[in-house]
Amino acid sequence: MIVFDLLCSGGHRFEGWFGSAADFSSQKERRLLSCPSCGSARVERVPSASRVNFGAPAPKVPPAKPQQPQPTPEMQGKDPFAIAQMLYSRMLDEMLTKSEDVGKQFPAEARKIYYQEAPARPIRGEATQEQHDELVEEGIPVLRLPVPPRLN
Ligand SMILES: [Zn+2]
Repeated sequence: MIVFDLLCSGGHRFEGWFGSAADFSSQKERRLLSCPSCGSARVERVPSASRVNFGAPAPKVPPAKPQQPQPTPEMQGKDPFAIAQMLYSRMLDEMLTKSEDVGKQFPAEARKIYYQEAPARPIRGEATQEQHDELVEEGIPVLRLPVPPRLN
């Protein structure tokens, strides 16, 4: 946890508790922060000596990283584009078999894992562009992959 000294547009100074600096930025951008005295959402962080850290920050959950597939003899002599497609298809197969499909729960589940509220494991699922951007803003490692229709 981090304590930030905050100042609203009305000049009220107050404290805010956040999981991380990124957490603060995310809440500020989504206008979730407001002054407890006047309710103003125009809140800025002010430099402070009272910044406190409780323990280490949550470790980052590495994204599922499949092993790099190696070209095989059947790929000899094929054109590079076809080979790239085959390698990509294998990488997807690898990711799809080794990750848990959480479907539309993906954004919620990715957050839980990141904040250590759920067991760390590779997951896959669906997220809208907006949900994806929010995860990235929070510093949660996610990877977007176009999945061919046959794998859907
Ligand atoms: Zn205020």
